Amino acid sequence: MATEAAESRSVKKKILVVDDHEDNVEVLRARLESRGYDVEGAMSGQEALDSVSRWCPDLVLLDVMMPDMDGLEVVRRLKADASLPFIPVIMQTALDSTERMVAGLEAGADDYVTKPINFAELEARVRSLLRIKRLQQDLAEREKELSDMNDKLLRISLTDGLTGVDNRRALEQRLHEMFEHSLRLHEPISVVMCDIDHFKKVNDTYGHAAGDEVLKQFAGILTAEAREIDRVGRYGGEEFLLLLPGTVLDAAVTFSERVRHRVDSHTFSYEGGTLKRTVSFGVASWPHPKISGREGILKAADDALYVAKETGRNRVVRFDSNEFNAHNGSEAEPDAAISERQNTAGRERSSESRVTAEGSA
Ligand code: GH3
Ligand code: MG
Ligand code: MG
Repeated sequence: MATEAAESRSVKKKILVVDDHEDNVEVLRARLESRGYDVEGAMSGQEALDSVSRWCPDLVLLDVMMPDMDGLEVVRRLKADASLPFIPVIMQTALDSTERMVAGLEAGADDYVTKPINFAELEARVRSLLRIKRLQQDLAEREKELSDMNDKLLRISLTDGLTGVDNRRALEQRLHEMFEHSLRLHEPISVVMCDIDHFKKVNDTYGHAAGDEVLKQFAGILTAEAREIDRVGRYGGEEFLLLLPGTVLDAAVTFSERVRHRVDSHTFSYEGGTLKRTVSFGVASWPHPKISGREGILKAADDALYVAKETGRNRVVRFDSNEFNAHNGSEAEPDAAISERQNTAGRERSSESRVTAEGSA
């Protein structure tokens, strides 16, 4: 970037001289070339516009009075063309024509000189405008750098550093968008919450680095199995969340079973050896009479995951299935008014009993 700017400073600056009188063009060309500028001449408005798009000059020295398309129209078109960079335009007007000078500036010209041209003055104005153009270029480069940096930061802020999949924040944003979309079009959406079984033992037995490796490989399996439009993310620790838009419960269960098999038959490798692991899944879908919002669908999937853990792990449990309800003892109430209380209580209950199950295993 910096070298690009330096380069653009060292090359000859290009000036387009526009005048319907060839003599005027040649006089200015000779003087400007003797000062080290690269000069091209144009003898009509149209020729000037063509030269700008082909040659992209650094500055245009433009006569106002021309037949067909006059200088005012040329400057208006140049300044209206968003595909062009900032190209300073100096209008040449007759000494007695204040009116034309004002019209030129209003049409978008950056400066003007009066005819007959005082070359020292013209040169000073050219240099001043080229300086402004350079500052403007530097500013545009800085802005581009900043905007690239912002994009990168945004990506980082939404990505899980270890596995490269969405992080919890990204997942929550995505679920919000997807759920709104589903509500609007009344399209189904499924949510799969999955959690590696006895993951703590991986850390305890093989070390934290092995644990990290398992997380990365598991994220890789999820990403490979998911469709382009699905979202895969790490919800926390060794818990991952899948958002499956346009997917009904049966299809989400089939998908989860496929992933469960993949993991079951996968051998995780880490520096120093290999190990096996299984995963438990909780699946919930909308529309469902007991699920009304995105918090509700998350909680439903989490509750189903809890049942999968309680009933032996390495399993897929669907929310509101007979098994789910038998285990929960009563009708599940995933959202509505009780959701807040249950959310916290359920989490505590869940981790407590998982510890117990682990302890007694
Ligand atoms: P369960 O089958 O009930 O899910 O048991 P579990 O051992 O998988 O679950 P538990 O919640 O008891 O333990 C999760 C462990 O995951 C504890 C924590 O240290 C570990 N963990 C969380 N994040 C990371 C990580 O980024 N890297 C590694 N290596 N371990 C992690
Ligand atoms: Mg676990
Ligand atoms: Mg866990």
